[in-house]
Amino acid sequence: MIGSGKIMRTDIKRTALNISTYCNLKCKHCLAFIPYYKNPRNMSYEEARKILGVYFQVVDSVEHFTVTGGEPLLNADAENILREVFKYLDQITGSVDFVTNGTMEIPNTILDLFEENKDKSKIVLSNYGDNLSTKIESVSTKLKQRNINYRVSEFSGKDKELYYGGWIDFTDHSLKWQTEIERDNNAQGCVHRAGKYFVINDGEIHCCSRSFWRIKNGIIPKIEGEYVPLMDDSISIEEKRRILLEMYGKKSSTSCAHCVGLRNDAPRITPAQQIK
Ligand code: SF4
Repeated sequence: MIGSGKIMRTDIKRTALNISTYCNLKCKHCLAFIPYYKNPRNMSYEEARKILGVYFQVVDSVEHFTVTGGEPLLNADAENILREVFKYLDQITGSVDFVTNGTMEIPNTILDLFEENKDKSKIVLSNYGDNLSTKIESVSTKLKQRNINYRVSEFSGKDKELYYGGWIDFTDHSLKWQTEIERDNNAQGCVHRAGKYFVINDGEIHCCSRSFWRIKNGIIPKIEGEYVPLMDDSISIEEKRRILLEMYGKKSSTSCAHCVGLRNDAPRITPAQQIK
């Protein structure tokens, strides 16, 4: 990256690649609004290969690279996409994480991949309770047997901590913060913003899935500099790196003005309520 005459590195904390907007659950308050997609789709391996190829030119290093959805196991290309992600381990300083909702067995070929790369990978099982995440026990047993690094995120209500006390309702997209200072102040307490998360949706890097959804649905405008169009060949890699660093440095984005934020003090609701 060229900035005041010197090369700037793009070392970032987290990115989540959404490989499926299908899910076999219908969580009313899904952070990524998955049940509300009118045309859900799976990312193909070829699409993922191209996106990752550009992403890892734009990003010098990322601490945690997460493969997620929707439910990523509903994508038949999940294994090949993961295999592609593992090719970039030199640039992933922490771990490749795979987030699944505990409703499905993980195929042995995917488990093999995580076993081979156990020093730099983790499987995250979301537990939405015995009625929904019916495979938590059996998958956990297999992961233990293979000594694969994993964690269970408890959303079931059995755990008192319950992921900071429950979920947050992001479905109200009305303008909440009038000034940039208010918007910055609220967003600075947002785990997503403070933790410097990014997501890749539709071949673009966005600040978070709330921001992506609001742009996609015309709730907020699509503003240059608030997303990185990885697949746009008319924009150079250097320019994409510049945009990413600019996003990284900002205290908030347009979407944050419409958002309660993923904050510890935001009101909590019962997790994983299913749409009837
Ligand atoms: S405040 Fe909302 S829009 Fe802004 S980063 Fe946090 S979750 Fe995303």
